[in-house]
Amino acid sequence: MSLRFEAISNLSNDATDISGSKATKITAIFGENVFTLKTAREFLSDEAYKSLAGSIKGGKKIDRSVAGQIANGIRAWAEAKGVTHFTHWFQPLTGTTAEKHDSFFTLKSDGTAIEEFEGGALIQQEPDASSFPSGGLRATFEARGYTAWDPSSPVFIMEIGQGKTLCIPTIFISYTGESLDYKAPLLKALEALNEAAVPVCNYFDKNVSKVTATLGWEQEYFVIDEALANARPDLVQCGRTVFGAAPAKGQQLEDHYFGSIPERVYAFMRDFETECYKLGIPLKTRHNEVAPSQFEAAPIFEEVSVAVDHNSLLMDIMDRVSRRHKLRVLVHEKPFAGINGNGKHNNWSMATDTGVNLLSPGKTPKTNLMFLTFFVNTIKAVHDYADLLRASIASAANDHRLGANEAPPAIISVFVGQYLSKVLDEVESRVGGKFDEQDEAILKLDIHRSIPELLLDNTDRNRTSPFAFTGNKFEFRAVGSSANCASPMTVLNVILAETLKQFKKDVDALIEKGEKKEIAIMQIIQKYIVDSKKVLFEGDGYSDAWHHEAARRGLPNVPTTPLALDAMVTDKAKHLFESNKVYTHPELEARHEIELEKYIKKVQIEARVMGDLALNHIIPTAVKYQNQLLKNINGLKAAGLPESAYKGQLAILKDVSSHIQVVYEKVHAMVEARKVANNIDNTRTKAIAYCTQVKETFFDEIRYHVDKLEHLVDDDNWTLPKYREMLFLR
Ligand code: ADP
Ligand code: MG
Repeated sequence: MSLRFEAISNLSNDATDISGSKATKITAIFGENVFTLKTAREFLSDEAYKSLAGSIKGGKKIDRSVAGQIANGIRAWAEAKGVTHFTHWFQPLTGTTAEKHDSFFTLKSDGTAIEEFEGGALIQQEPDASSFPSGGLRATFEARGYTAWDPSSPVFIMEIGQGKTLCIPTIFISYTGESLDYKAPLLKALEALNEAAVPVCNYFDKNVSKVTATLGWEQEYFVIDEALANARPDLVQCGRTVFGAAPAKGQQLEDHYFGSIPERVYAFMRDFETECYKLGIPLKTRHNEVAPSQFEAAPIFEEVSVAVDHNSLLMDIMDRVSRRHKLRVLVHEKPFAGINGNGKHNNWSMATDTGVNLLSPGKTPKTNLMFLTFFVNTIKAVHDYADLLRASIASAANDHRLGANEAPPAIISVFVGQYLSKVLDEVESRVGGKFDEQDEAILKLDIHRSIPELLLDNTDRNRTSPFAFTGNKFEFRAVGSSANCASPMTVLNVILAETLKQFKKDVDALIEKGEKKEIAIMQIIQKYIVDSKKVLFEGDGYSDAWHHEAARRGLPNVPTTPLALDAMVTDKAKHLFESNKVYTHPELEARHEIELEKYIKKVQIEARVMGDLALNHIIPTAVKYQNQLLKNINGLKAAGLPESAYKGQLAILKDVSSHIQVVYEKVHAMVEARKVANNIDNTRTKAIAYCTQVKETFFDEIRYHVDKLEHLVDDDNWTLPKYREMLFLR
């Protein structure tokens, strides 16, 4: 029996445990596995506590002299919870998380066994990192890298079965200081934003001394049965199906959306949510998505760096817990062709230490002006650096999704809704910047009250926008589901930092000329609206008309990763990142190289898997069916029946034969194309070759013929689980 049928029959036999975790009040377990400041108070001396609290608030390094005390306190807490090992937990550029476990256990010089955790081990480690991608950085600069504790992200305990590990969130850098992970540049970008945003806030409120960016992600994913997934080598190896005919019933009825969650999946959700709560991940919503077997989880928003860690942890936990339930979670951007892909909306805003959300429209003219300032600066930043935002979400997997079913296109535009469009028009129309303080029409607009209702009217259309204002935050929707949010968040925060710095200069220049502050601000806001107007789009982002219109407006539209990545290494990007101290030029070049290499490898693997499946599964199955047909036709012929008696069989036989031939030829031609591409030295040229000569030339065509065969060939012989089985059986 093929794996496919075994999986299907087991589905009904397997009485999988659907009880899930015992229902507990979330508040009773929330954060119990996190070394919060509150826990620290209990386990640390006054001196150590103060040093730790200072580091968390000020983002400063831990003082070495108290590191030992802090480490001891953390170990005492962890051991009380049954922890035996610790690890530096980091987010390398491979896109997953990395850890290397060490035990507290050690031997003294006389051989006595003791448990110990030194300050040095807490704040710095040297993982054997030579196999993490570095884009040549480590070769150029220094052979090794090290991980360093980032105290802004709290230490936590990961439970795996009976095992418990103390995880120390770290950044990963080379000995000469180049960052080799997602986290280090993100922290730098957040600091750049803080430095640029505080002086602008001070125009309106002198008490603001810190601005933090906030992120609330929405993670989409599919859940399918483990045995069915295991019977699909493409899912196992690429995380997506490279073949598969559309099921008769797909998502056209949209009956899955907000429908009730299947019991097996529900049990799994409750289990992974419990683990998340213990780790302080504030999950808030769970629901079905539009596609069958597709779901979403979203937390309450947090500071960006913590939210990024929590999203990485969530993906890790979901994967682990799903296996306990004999399920598989697919976070690939496009696991199934013709069915919605997975996105990861990044809801983003900024908050001051005085407790104000900078993207929340105010109630008074003054707070309205502050809102307008940050709102318009964000639009300008997106306009000026649309190419860079596009690059920040570029990956082989996201290329399958952007512009496909219910996903925003690769064109970056901003949706602000009818009401704010009117506000912007109104401001823009004051040609010559004629504003006065009593300007009723603008400063006294009741934006605060008017936005929510007006947004409601537009929610359907604005779903098609890659970057939408949703009342009190922007929602970057083009981010891929498997991506580390740090990449788009680094770019978004640094481009806003840069824009705000310029804004401050522009406003100050007018003030120096004698203009009143509010008037100066309005004039620069007006200028920015004029400058960035073309990035605003309220219409249907999925339509062809928009593609034409965007081209007319001169907005970049780069649908493929190798070319989208060019934006990372333009002079403009280099200047941006360097002047904001996020990346040096060599770091940027290295990241570019790494992203290109990742792309090449992903496409290469998919191409190989396609070839293997075609030759080992599809063609042999089709040939078997050919033989069945032949036997039948010959039998009928021998029985003296006329051709009209086997006309249908003959037609099918011919069809099957012709599809087999095309599949065979194309698979071989694709191997040749790969050989040519592999001989290219320049990484960018090679990535482009993989994109155009391998993927674009062959993937769709091979798939077309394989999917035709799936429709033609005897279902009994077909070895790969079909879409209808993966998407509808559980
Ligand atoms: P919707 O579901 O309609 O997109 P929600 O209000 O449920 O809108 O919010 C979606 C996400 O946006 C949630 O993760 C939420 O935490 C996040 N969010 C809300 N306010 C902010 C904010 N100020 N900054 C960042 N994220 C936010
Ligand atoms: Mg949303």
